Amino acid sequence: MPTSPRAQRTDFSLDIAGRYTCNGLDEALASVGSGGRPFDLIVVGGGSFGAALAQQLFANDQAQVHRILVLEGGPLALPEHVQNMPLQGLGVPPATSIAQLRSQGLDGQPRAEVWGLAWHSSTPFPGLAYCLAGRSLYFGGWSPQLLDDEMPTAVNAPSRWPQAVVNDLNNRYFAESATQIGTEETNDFIFGPLQNALRQALYDGINNGVITEAIPLGNLPDHPVLRNNPGANAARLRELLRDGSPLSPTPRRQIPVWIASWGSKAGLRRVARLGDGWFASAYNTTPDDFEAARESLSEELSARDRDPDSFPNALVTMWTWITEDARDAERVLRDVLAPLLKRDPEALRHQVCIGPAESCAELLSRYAQAGCQRVHLWPLGDEPRQIELAATAVLPAITT
Ligand SMILES: Cc1cc2nc3c(=O)[nH]c(=O)nc-3n(C[C@H](O)[C@H](O)[C@H](O)COP(=O)(O)OP(=O)(O)OC[C@H]3O[C@@H](n4cnc5c(N)ncnc54)[C@H](O)[C@@H]3O)c2cc1C
Repeated sequence: MPTSPRAQRTDFSLDIAGRYTCNGLDEALASVGSGGRPFDLIVVGGGSFGAALAQQLFANDQAQVHRILVLEGGPLALPEHVQNMPLQGLGVPPATSIAQLRSQGLDGQPRAEVWGLAWHSSTPFPGLAYCLAGRSLYFGGWSPQLLDDEMPTAVNAPSRWPQAVVNDLNNRYFAESATQIGTEETNDFIFGPLQNALRQALYDGINNGVITEAIPLGNLPDHPVLRNNPGANAARLRELLRDGSPLSPTPRRQIPVWIASWGSKAGLRRVARLGDGWFASAYNTTPDDFEAARESLSEELSARDRDPDSFPNALVTMWTWITEDARDAERVLRDVLAPLLKRDPEALRHQVCIGPAESCAELLSRYAQAGCQRVHLWPLGDEPRQIELAATAVLPAITT
C-alpha cells in the first residue's frame, strides 16, 4: 500500500510528526527512481544504535555526498523517553516467549502498543520496542564503562577479549561514545535542594572515609573531567572539585524533612526517629485523635532526647469550601469530595472545612486547642474567593 502523502487523522491525533519525520519505503525508492542518487549506506533498524550510527555517519561525512537510508520497521510512537511524557501507562511488558504467546493465542499482536518478539528463545524476555528510537525510549540511561578486569586479555582467561579490541576501546571508542551519549557531563539537569543535599552528604561521606569502599574523589584515576583536560592529574581534579568551583557540590544547607503519618504508632515512631516535623492528614483524623497522636509523638520524641515542644506539626489537605448555603455545602461534600476521596460523605462531614464560616472556624479552633500549629487549606474550587473567605470570615473567628 503506498504511503499516504498527507498526515493521517485518528480519533485523537493528527500524525504530522510521523508523516513528516519519516518516509515510506515506496517514497524512498521513488526518490531514487525520480533522479535522486542511490543510497550509499543502508542502516537496518532505527532504534537506539541504528539512529546513533546513522547520525554519526552523516556527521562524519564532511562533504555530505553519501545518501543514508535508515530502514525502521515500526512507527514513530513517542517523541521522547517514556518517562518524559505525561503518564500514559506505557512500560516494558513482562518477559515472555513466542511459544508462550502462541499458547495463549496472543502471538503476532503488539504488547504495550509497540513491543514484539523478534526471535524464539528458551529464556523469556520482553522483546523489542518496534518504533523509532526503539528501546532507548525506555532505557535507564546507565552507561558504565567496562573496567579492564571485565575485559580480560590473558591467554588463560575464561572469556578472553582480543587485546586489539580492548586497546581500541580504551584508547578511542569509550571516550568517543561517552562524548556522544553525554556521559562525560555531570547530571546537573537533576537539581534542587534535595539533590544538592544528597550530593553534599555523599561528597562528605567519601571525603571523610565514612563510605569505606569508595575511592576518594580526588584519587579517581579516570574521572571524566580529566579526559577533557589533557595532562590533568588527580591534583587538578581536586582543584576542579574544590569548594566554589563549578563542579563542586553546593554548600551544605539544612533541609527540614517532614514526615507524614495518620497517627499509627509505627508512623509516629518514624516521625520521631527521622523527621524534622510531622504532617497529620486532615481527612484522616479529628481534633481528638490529633491530640492523642501528638501526645504519643511527644513520648516518642522524649524517648529520643528530642524536645517535643519545639517539634513542629501541621495538618495537610484540609479540604475547604466555605459557604453559607447549606445545599451548596451538601453538594460539594456529596458530589465533589466524597467521590474524589472514595469516602462515605457522612464520615467526612465533621472532618473537613465544608460549610459556614462559623463551623469551619469552630473545627479549626478545636485543632488549635489540640496543639495543631498550622493547617494547609485546599479549596475545592474558586480559590481566590475561598482564600478571601478563609482570611476574612474564618481566621478572625478562630479561638485558641
Ligand atoms: C527498561 C530498560 C532499561 C534499560 N536500561 C539500560 C541502561 O540503563 N543502560 C544500558 O546500557 N542499556 C539499557 N537497556 C538496554 C538498551 O536499551 C538496549 O541495549 C539498546 O536500546 C539496544 O539498542 P538497539 O539499537 O540494539 O536495539 P533497539 O533500540 O531495540 O532497536 C531495534 C530497532 O530495530 C527495529 N527493527 C527490528 N526488526 C526490524 C526489521 N526486520 N526491519 C527494520 N527494523 C527492525 C525495531 O523496530 C527497533 O526500532 C535498557 C532496556 C530496557 C528495556
